[in-house]
Amino acid sequence: MKTHLLGFPRIGAAREIKKACEQYWRGKITLPDLAEAGKRQKRYNWQLQQEAGIDLIPCNDFSLYDQVLDMVLITGAVPERYGALESLPETDLYFAMARGYQQNGLDVTAMEMTKWFDTNYHYIVPEFTAAQSFRLRPHKPLEEFLEAKELGIAAKPVLIGPVSFLLLGKEKEGGFHRLDLLDRLLPVYSELLQRLAEAGADWVQLDEPFLVTALDQHTKKAFQTAYTYLKEQVPALKLLLATYFEGLHENTSLACSLGIDALHIDLVRAPGQLKQVLNRLPASVILSAGIVDGRNIWKNDFARSLTLLSEAEQLKTEGRLWIAPSCSLLHVPFDLELESDTRTLPEAVKNWIAFAKQKVREVATIASLASRGDHAGNDPELLENRHCIEERRNSSLITNQHVQQALASVSVEMTIRNQPFRQRKQLQQEKLKLPLFPTTTIGSFPQTKEIRELRSRLNQGAISRQEYTAIIRAKTADLIRKQEEIGLDVLVHGEFERNDMVQYFGEQLEGFAFTQNGWVQSYGSRAVKPPLIFGDVSRPRPMTVEMAGFAMQQTSKPVKGMLTGPVTILQWSFVRDDQPREETAFQIALAIRKEVLDLERSGVPLIQIDEPALREGLPLRREQWKSYLDWAVNAFRLASSGVDASTQVHTHMCYSEFNDIIEAIGKMDADVITIETSRSQMELLEAFAGFAYPNEIGPGIYDIHSPRIPAEKEMEALMDKALDVIPAEQLWVNPDCGLKTRDWPETEAALRNMVSAARKLRARY
Ligand code: GLN
Ligand code: ZN
Repeated sequence: MKTHLLGFPRIGAAREIKKACEQYWRGKITLPDLAEAGKRQKRYNWQLQQEAGIDLIPCNDFSLYDQVLDMVLITGAVPERYGALESLPETDLYFAMARGYQQNGLDVTAMEMTKWFDTNYHYIVPEFTAAQSFRLRPHKPLEEFLEAKELGIAAKPVLIGPVSFLLLGKEKEGGFHRLDLLDRLLPVYSELLQRLAEAGADWVQLDEPFLVTALDQHTKKAFQTAYTYLKEQVPALKLLLATYFEGLHENTSLACSLGIDALHIDLVRAPGQLKQVLNRLPASVILSAGIVDGRNIWKNDFARSLTLLSEAEQLKTEGRLWIAPSCSLLHVPFDLELESDTRTLPEAVKNWIAFAKQKVREVATIASLASRGDHAGNDPELLENRHCIEERRNSSLITNQHVQQALASVSVEMTIRNQPFRQRKQLQQEKLKLPLFPTTTIGSFPQTKEIRELRSRLNQGAISRQEYTAIIRAKTADLIRKQEEIGLDVLVHGEFERNDMVQYFGEQLEGFAFTQNGWVQSYGSRAVKPPLIFGDVSRPRPMTVEMAGFAMQQTSKPVKGMLTGPVTILQWSFVRDDQPREETAFQIALAIRKEVLDLERSGVPLIQIDEPALREGLPLRREQWKSYLDWAVNAFRLASSGVDASTQVHTHMCYSEFNDIIEAIGKMDADVITIETSRSQMELLEAFAGFAYPNEIGPGIYDIHSPRIPAEKEMEALMDKALDVIPAEQLWVNPDCGLKTRDWPETEAALRNMVSAARKLRARY
């Protein structure tokens, strides 16, 4: 039984590649230095897999920024606006596409970025035109293959398959569909495969994750065309078609009939597909079973994996069964051995989890256990694994009877506000006495270097908690004065005390653990450290009441309490796999609900519960959307509905696509929602108008992602557009997201313009 990997994390255990890229961008190291850092990382990754006994090691899964952008360069699909940069070294052209280019009198914008399926990884969106041409630049995959070969490793190059590559992109003009470009793209792929075969490649992996989504006829046809062609053109090379993140569903026959040599399926997300695939897989095709979770950090249950594999017994005896992680290990942290702080990651919990390096070993171990069949029953590794799995299952760290009871006694009434919106609006108006077009912000204000350094000094023990709090309070008081001076109507405390909108809460909740080095690439050189939810979630004490109280004492204006919603906390963490996600979401919701009630009790008149990740939780398969949205909305309602009618609940979301979820947003029944709209010129408000959204809306009227200061007129014009579709009494005036990444001068100037735009509007209404 062969073992292989679809891909390995590439930022490095200590984020070496992130650091090298950033140093290169700052001119601190040279291009050869950067290439050398890449080489070192690749070598490290390959040798790690080799030592673990992996048979088929991937190459070209490494990337200095993003694997889709790599394909843009490889296929020569470089957008026209980079034409003037074609003479630069390839790596510079590459980074220019990723990050934009402002040098030597040139000013070229970056390519767009979007989420990679249902993960938190962001890829660069290829841009296509009707007259698109492609041209092979084979350097990267060829060089990586040869680098591995030099180390004595016969690697398997990984590429994004031609159909998925086109589907991942976007048409930059009308009159054509990007799949129409397939005929022009295929010769480039076949030439590349040819070159790889000539260099000695035996296998090539083509990732076609779109095969797990619903496909129209046109797309199905494209898959047939592509693979028939490639097989004809390069018959000697063996092709592994990789699918992941879901089951193949109705595309099973299609995937099995593409004439490929091996098919990889995700048996973690969709174990049920094994039977269907076995029924349809031609006798000549190898099945790669993705059984080690590439999306989560729990240890594999070997016994369960072996049972699943035994279903494919016959393939095993024929040598047609391979074993792999479910998807690339890009989505999990590098190495658990680097974790040593038992205060944030208890020893017991550490014993339940596996990061990329550990998962590689799991793959090898499962393969060896499976090949020994019944003889493996008393294998020490199997016994040890069983012990860990049982320990986790029975651990007292996981269950909290109070949480279980509280969850069992949740009633429908707890998810319904005690009065309908119309009445609430009136009561809230009597209490808050806000003007028409009230102005506010989304919560955070610039998190300067000074504040981040202060926090790292606290963590290193260089300053005391008291000193830290005193400085944070001074900053908060200062911000309250600034907001009063700017003339905002609803103030915020600024979130200076928060390292991150999920981690800050996770650190104060039970059932969460944290890592020191558990970095996962989010995009380019950016990495995040998701918390781990390992047990029942509860809130031992108030989390934000003190700061909110302090802020309120500084002003007579209303101050908004600021919380992160249950779905977002869930979505941006590694979530336990021993209960449905929704159950964990409800536990978090109960904890947030308590916080909401404590805030209300301490006199906070408005409470914002952010749900920026609600939309990204949408399942890949549309037929599962309804059930997801039902529980996601319910979790929000459970968190928010305990308050009195006169307490105003806000929520905030930031993305520019609301059409799919507008009904669900309506059902959340927040009194006010603030949303990102400025980049789409208010167009998405039509979704709200079309749905006759009854509650209040704050369409973001300036883009906080740019340091640009929007003019008063510009914002007034945007509000006029909003007024075309939404009545004045429903509208708020605010930026489109938190201001933490901005600097002070531009923030102040922009907010002043925003407030005066609101005043102009009021004068007209
Ligand atoms: N309240 C958060 C902030 O202002 C919201 C962040 C977000 O939407 N991602 O930073
Ligand atoms: Zn936002």
